[in-house]
Amino acid sequence: MPAEHSLCLRLHGPGQPLVLEQRPVPVPGPGQVLLKVGACGVCRTDLHLIDGELPDPKLPIVPGHEIVGTVVTGGAGTHYPSGTRLGVPWLGYTCGICEFCLSGQENLCDRAAFTGYQLDGGYAEHVVADARYCFELPASLDDAHAAPLLCAGLIGYRTWRMAWNAKRLGIYGFGAAAHLIAQVATHKGQEVYAFTRAGDVIAQQFALQLGARWAGASEEQPPVLLDAALIFAPVGQLVPLALRAVRKGGSVICGGIHMSDIPSLPYSLIWGERCIRSVANLTRRDGTEFLALAGEIGIQPSIETLPLSRANEALERVRAGALSGAAVLIPE
Ligand SMILES: [Zn+2]
Ligand SMILES: [Zn+2]
Repeated sequence: MPAEHSLCLRLHGPGQPLVLEQRPVPVPGPGQVLLKVGACGVCRTDLHLIDGELPDPKLPIVPGHEIVGTVVTGGAGTHYPSGTRLGVPWLGYTCGICEFCLSGQENLCDRAAFTGYQLDGGYAEHVVADARYCFELPASLDDAHAAPLLCAGLIGYRTWRMAWNAKRLGIYGFGAAAHLIAQVATHKGQEVYAFTRAGDVIAQQFALQLGARWAGASEEQPPVLLDAALIFAPVGQLVPLALRAVRKGGSVICGGIHMSDIPSLPYSLIWGERCIRSVANLTRRDGTEFLALAGEIGIQPSIETLPLSRANEALERVRAGALSGAAVLIPE
């Protein structure tokens, strides 16, 4: 039997630090599973939530949408035996009946609910999740290493899929998503060109170690024109810079859930059939495809673990860009 109470970190209002609190262990409803959290990744989107940049969060809310846990118990209609290891991603619920859900675009569902935003997430010892949106995970990765796959990996993969046929691929913002997707891209034979903040030699060396052909500052022009560029940093100023670096007919794909305003730009930057597009959320198909691929190619996430109680510190490290790879919280 689970303990009656367990710890979680909650956000009570925008701009406030998370508060470590006891709450009753959540009870799974029909179709839901109760998981004991083994690890939860820290995502840039958690900062956008805390900073009040995402509209209408549930408050108070337990953040965290890169959750790895094991099933304690399931509600009616669930079939996972206790002890099964599952991953819980950002996409926590969809309606199943709108035109988006019925056309393979459940990532755009108008009534979708997202983990750690509208549904309590994984900065906690326990979480409940709709079993239909959970994933089984590659056995080769432990909980902490599997956690970043669930957002940085999954949404990174959906972003990369928009540029799967690019030979020369630029990646702007070399953090958690980029370090996973660079491994996918080089495995598929793409040339990776990595762009970081000017002077961020550590991130540039990290990109080169992961197989990038070239690494430099975002303001620099790469040695060749790119077929496509992925932007993982939430910085709108990168869009015109990336457009300058792509060839005619190339695309710039923005993988973030939030981005600062894109500055106005001359039409000549999109002339030549260059296009800009965003990537929203994920579908379950993205998840199963990516997690199978991650197991097959032996993706190696680079992580830094911190105890759950130090979540506020982990968030500040993500904000400062002080990490190579991903921060992961571990319940004590
Ligand atoms: Zn829907
Ligand atoms: Zn995320």
